[in-house]
Amino acid sequence: MRVPVLAYHATNVSGNDYASNDHLAFAADLRLIDDLDLRIVPLQWVVEQVIGAADRDLAGCVALTCDDGSALDFFDIEYPQHGLQRSLYHCMLDFVAERGPAAQPDLHLTSFVIASAQAREQMDADSLFGRGWMGDDWWHAAAASGLMAIENHSWDHNHPCLPSPGIDGMPRGSFLDVDNLARADAEIAAATRFINACIAPQRAKIFCYPFGHVAGYLRDEYFPRFMESHGMLAAMGDGATPVTHTSNRWNLPRHICGWHWKSPEALREILQACR
Ligand SMILES: [Zn+2]
Repeated sequence: MRVPVLAYHATNVSGNDYASNDHLAFAADLRLIDDLDLRIVPLQWVVEQVIGAADRDLAGCVALTCDDGSALDFFDIEYPQHGLQRSLYHCMLDFVAERGPAAQPDLHLTSFVIASAQAREQMDADSLFGRGWMGDDWWHAAAASGLMAIENHSWDHNHPCLPSPGIDGMPRGSFLDVDNLARADAEIAAATRFINACIAPQRAKIFCYPFGHVAGYLRDEYFPRFMESHGMLAAMGDGATPVTHTSNRWNLPRHICGWHWKSPEALREILQACR
């Protein structure tokens, strides 16, 4: 198994071409993956393979993820200066309409969302346009759609826009400061509970480190030792290699659109190197 996991940010919209717009990149990449005869599978299948909970043939497979859980993941939204943006969810439906349901029968996108409504409102006001794009009103429909999973991107991202300090005197702006049990429970177990209540009967099972900050305490102690409280099966980082049987389940690598690749040609190289 050598499965590349690709990551997108639907709020990355600074223009209307591949390099400046993750919606256009995502739509193009679905077709590129299909043209290369690769198979898109749910991230959960990859996780189950790594932890030995399933034994599927994942040769030639790719998994898709997106971070931060804005409404742009699910709803088409008029973006200031750059016009109507097709949601990642609708990009998948467009792909199915174009190529037919048999082209990618397991097509799937895992969306990592931020639990705290207060934190989301603050980010919406500070980092976006204050238009209510950070709601949780779409999570249940997305999780029930069969095309998306809603997963855990922490309680509040420990985002620098939030009032400081956070829980247990934690300074804002870095996830590396989530370095003890109180902070970890507040950032991860509490987020699992909130997200699960929103998406029931689905359940969140995969974590994604905010900022790609893989805190050693979380990777080596909290995640392996406190599974009953946080409910996570694996955690995603940004290692830019394919996931293999020997990957650390608490730091599974991903390739990030706009960072690890900026063009279809560069993604093609990544995908071919993973075969
Ligand atoms: Zn994030």
